Amino acid sequence: MSHVYFDHNATTPVDDAVLEAMLPYLRDQHGNASSRHEFGTRARQAVEAAREQVAALLNVQPVQVIFTSGGTEANNLFVKGAAAYLKPAQIAISAIEHSCVVKPAQELTRQAWTLRRVAVDGRGQVDLADLDDALKVPTGIVSVMLANNETGVIQDVALAGERARRAGALMHTDAVQAVGKIPVDFAALQVHALTLSAHKFYGPKGAGALVIDKRIELRPQLGGGGHERGLRSGTENVPAIVGFGAAAELAASRLATLAPRLAALQQRLEQGLTALGAVVFGAGATRLPNTTFFALRGMDGEALLIELDKVGFAVASGAACSSANPEPSATLTAMGVEREIGLGAVRFSLGKSNTAEQVDDFLRALATVAQRLRKLKAMTV
Ligand code: PLP
Repeated sequence: MSHVYFDHNATTPVDDAVLEAMLPYLRDQHGNASSRHEFGTRARQAVEAAREQVAALLNVQPVQVIFTSGGTEANNLFVKGAAAYLKPAQIAISAIEHSCVVKPAQELTRQAWTLRRVAVDGRGQVDLADLDDALKVPTGIVSVMLANNETGVIQDVALAGERARRAGALMHTDAVQAVGKIPVDFAALQVHALTLSAHKFYGPKGAGALVIDKRIELRPQLGGGGHERGLRSGTENVPAIVGFGAAAELAASRLATLAPRLAALQQRLEQGLTALGAVVFGAGATRLPNTTFFALRGMDGEALLIELDKVGFAVASGAACSSANPEPSATLTAMGVEREIGLGAVRFSLGKSNTAEQVDDFLRALATVAQRLRKLKAMTV
């Protein structure tokens, strides 16, 4: 049985062309980009070429791109690095941020900062009136993600950014789930900083970047040899950075055809889900063309995930199951979704290799699995 992968928001496979671009740097081109001989020079040129590719994808200058080990590090660098040069004030983040924004923001509260979570509405859209309310208090940093990893709901970051700027705050967006799926233009978003990660758009794991407005000051989180203009020390992961650049270039060239193709598959899936009586979270909001977060009433999301995996389909569940007593995802709780429904949440995320036939097979498998689980449940009650 071959497995079908519908979990592209967790990570994507490395594109063949990306792998090809990386291979020379894993074999003979092994130089350290800081070395002053021929090997080093070639590695440096490769890193700088990748910086240009990433910059082109976001319509910025290469000097604005700081390479990191991924999205987590870039978010930490911004939140902690920007706060270090600001007077302690409020940090306002949306109620649905990824934990790698939430945790560093919580850390700031130990240094005289206050943390304000900005509400979202029932569709998972950031409530701009609540942001206005938050900004009545002196605010140093605002962070609102561009697209949510679970619901795929796209936020109006430009409007949030305008408000943050007017209030004198630095504006950041975690665009990890958006880049490669929708057009992302740094300047149009009205942000001072933006995070992206290569492995979410067919690049390698362990490569990402913080893209910044050149005027902002950041305190590095890793001190050392002064790499990345002193903002991120550590020998560059040249093969991963080269792969990141290749993935960025491919994403830019592919976007116009990929997004509508995925949107058509998404629509096909959601029609089928509706026929099965599923609730689609964030329906009605503008969402990524690849993401559908849904629940079947009375059905446990974890159980569905496990049963679907057994019949060859890889999806994600929405519950935080780190404790004995599972809780619905924080995103759904912030959206006001009932606990009982939230515990049924399953995340389905499409990628470039998925087909209509796979979506149809998935819908059939889901119907069968759900029927079996319902029968089992009825027998045990
Ligand atoms: N931000 C969002 C919204 C994500 O979905 C993820 C990954 O799941 C990250 C940040 C972390 O990125 P990375 O895996 O590159 O550390």
